[in-house]
Amino acid sequence: MRPLVFDNRFVAELPGDPESANTRRQVLGAAWSRVAPTPVAAPRLLAWSKEVASLLDLDESDVRDPLFAEVFAGNRLIAGMDPIASNYGGHQFGVWAGQLGDGRAISLGEVVNRRGERWELQLKGAGPTPYSRHADGRAVLRSSVREFLCSEAMHHLGIPTTRALSLIATGEPVVRDMFYDGRPAPEPGAIVCRVAPSFIRLGHFELPAARGDRALLERLVDFTIDRDFPHLVAAHPADPVERRAAWFMEVCERTAVTIAHWMRVGFVHGVMNTDNLSVLGLTIDYGPYGWLDDFDPDFTPNTTDAQGRRYRYANQPAVGQWNLSRFGAALAPLFPDTAPLEAGLERYADVYTGTHRALTASKLGWRAWHDGDELLARELFELLHRGEIDHTLFFRALAEVDPGSPSLAPFADAFYRDAARERVAGELLAWLVRWGARVARDGEPAVLRRARMNAVNPRYVLRNYLAQQAIDAAEAGDPGPLAELLDVMRRPYDDQPGREPYAARRPEWARHRPGCAMLSCSS
Ligand code: AMP
Ligand code: MG
Repeated sequence: MRPLVFDNRFVAELPGDPESANTRRQVLGAAWSRVAPTPVAAPRLLAWSKEVASLLDLDESDVRDPLFAEVFAGNRLIAGMDPIASNYGGHQFGVWAGQLGDGRAISLGEVVNRRGERWELQLKGAGPTPYSRHADGRAVLRSSVREFLCSEAMHHLGIPTTRALSLIATGEPVVRDMFYDGRPAPEPGAIVCRVAPSFIRLGHFELPAARGDRALLERLVDFTIDRDFPHLVAAHPADPVERRAAWFMEVCERTAVTIAHWMRVGFVHGVMNTDNLSVLGLTIDYGPYGWLDDFDPDFTPNTTDAQGRRYRYANQPAVGQWNLSRFGAALAPLFPDTAPLEAGLERYADVYTGTHRALTASKLGWRAWHDGDELLARELFELLHRGEIDHTLFFRALAEVDPGSPSLAPFADAFYRDAARERVAGELLAWLVRWGARVARDGEPAVLRRARMNAVNPRYVLRNYLAQQAIDAAEAGDPGPLAELLDVMRRPYDDQPGREPYAARRPEWARHRPGCAMLSCSS
């Protein structure tokens, strides 16, 4: 395996924990703690992303080198790596939770590639850290497969996300109480190497703010702007308050855009705690996430959230803004007044609304969003809900409908239940007639319209049942289906002949099966 060039700025420029023992503790006045990954018994490479490898200037020969699996399972360090766990807090389910930190993530360092891009490498499941609290620092294969696949699937959908380089089986069991019902059982363990320009979360700023540690808060803010938002330093060279205000605004904008894309593809994050929101607006921390099958605005894949449904599909835009309001409150001591923070939160709402409307217009085949489109769009979503119609299949099939003489034929596969179909068939046809008239008003050639629709309405999304089938095979020792599924997800907007089953609606067996319908946080 060829060497990598590291430039570990997070460690070099931010204060670290003077204590070096790997014991659980509160870490004050420091952004990180040095901690070595705990070696595992028998690393075995199960999957890797060639696109992410190439971001690191690695190719297949590097990945096939036995050293690769050793390094990315945490058994060996290579020159330049300086492993740490970072320190952050967060609001979990709306409640301040205090110090959380990287309890099972260990950053190996920041690679600078040949193009000068910075990519931090982080092992998830590499053993305990000072932030592990009562847990073991490990990850099970099923959740690691889900994180690996979804990171890459989201990227190929064009949605900001952390990436995944590798998935390595550890050869060691991990005990989990999967259903939280007092029946803990051993499961195969695994480690994902995730990759991003920055793993800084909103919760990184909330923790020093909550502790009244203004010095650390200020250093973290200025470090983040300097390393991860260098264009803002160039744009506001003289005035740090102005620069920080522009930064807050940009974090709000990025978060709004990412969440608008989640809504576009029917992605439900499942655990939008402030420690799981990236300051770069990347989708991060793939846990009990899910995808809409039949359109249901109240859908949450997370059993832990089933009561309050705080993180349900339709609530994601509001939760994004609430999280940013917590982030803004943490930053308030650095501003003479709250006007820039209020402006950022308003900007969030404007950017979200604008992006969501533009994307919805594209999904529906309209050139742009016009005043008066709201009602037609709202009526559709209400019909999708009442008709229990598959979100992905509906929009993909809509491109096949002739706006001049609509029919329901293209939607044959999009219904889950005959009774629900009958309930809405007449209304849906009437809606399609009005949709057709709206399309006609744009006066655009059909080929152009269809191309635009198919560029935002994926044919393939990583439905939970698909991921679960890959998990079942991987647990039985066959990583083939996992590689195949990753390959399908590389081109989610293309019709891929022979791969129609990957575009099918959720089968009945998956409606209630754990891992397919509902997921717990146990991972
Ligand atoms: P999450 O909401 O799953 O992102 O995790 C919240 C906090 O719990 C973070 O500080 C994680 O690092 C920590 N955590 C989750 N699972 C484990 C685990 N198995 N071992 C140690 N820490 C964990
Ligand atoms: Mg997390």
